[in-house]
Amino acid sequence: MRKFQTDKSAERGCDDLKDLTEDKTPPPRTPGACEDCLKEGTEWVHLRECMTCGHVGCCDSSPGRHATRHFHETQHPVVRSVEPDEHWTWCYVHEVTGDLAREPVAAGMKSRVRH
Ligand SMILES: [Zn+2]
Ligand SMILES: [Zn+2]
Ligand SMILES: [Zn+2]
Repeated sequence: MRKFQTDKSAERGCDDLKDLTEDKTPPPRTPGACEDCLKEGTEWVHLRECMTCGHVGCCDSSPGRHATRHFHETQHPVVRSVEPDEHWTWCYVHEVTGDLAREPVAAGMKSRVRH
């Protein structure tokens, strides 16, 4: 492998997915639903949640592709899957996947919502 190829295969260029745990996920703004599908009356297939602001959008298999659109509109780089059995993250900027580490959530968890 050549070290000169740094552009497309930037496996080491992504710090966005480091140290992400479920703990650090912001509360979803529209739990269990795509925010933009609700507005536009479209249907979603799978849901992705923005790790920056808690926006919930639909995946690229959905007609609206709202998670991707959210990235283009906001430049928020990382989403996670909110499907029950999936624990992965995705960085749109570097196009890499990561694992979302599960950490025990204390009972009576603090949910701080800032407006
Ligand atoms: Zn990245
Ligand atoms: Zn949608
Ligand atoms: Zn966002």
